[in-house]
Amino acid sequence: MISEAIIGVNALNSMLDLAKSLKGINDATVRNTVAIELTEKIIAAHAAQAALISKVADLEKELVRFETWEAEKQRYDLHEIKKGRFTRRLKESVEGSEPPHHICAQCYNRGVKSILQSKVSEVGRNTLLVCGECKTELNLSLAV
Ligand SMILES: [Zn+2]
Repeated sequence: MISEAIIGVNALNSMLDLAKSLKGINDATVRNTVAIELTEKIIAAHAAQAALISKVADLEKELVRFETWEAEKQRYDLHEIKKGRFTRRLKESVEGSEPPHHICAQCYNRGVKSILQSKVSEVGRNTLLVCGECKTELNLSLAV
């Protein structure tokens, strides 16, 4: 994005040079050609500026998401729910308006909060914790 901004500044300088050269051109045909070239450069610069504004807006959204996740992830600690099976558990110190729950440790590592849902398997009637995001299933009935 920095290189795009530098290209934009260079394009503005080029347009400024063209605009300055217009007043010294006496030949109407040459002046019109330069004016058309200048107009094309202004249109291209406008499109590049719009693309940069869009990119900045996307980056600002991503930054907010990142900052929100950084605060949110501090509310969970690593928990071994069954030998060798890990979740992220809501810390007791931050429980309050929310019921105790676990989120998926794999999704947590990818910056995604996915609350694990309890389910009983059809085969074997095992109790599972299932992640709706990455489809991880933690079997709580089987011993390791
Ligand atoms: Zn997951």
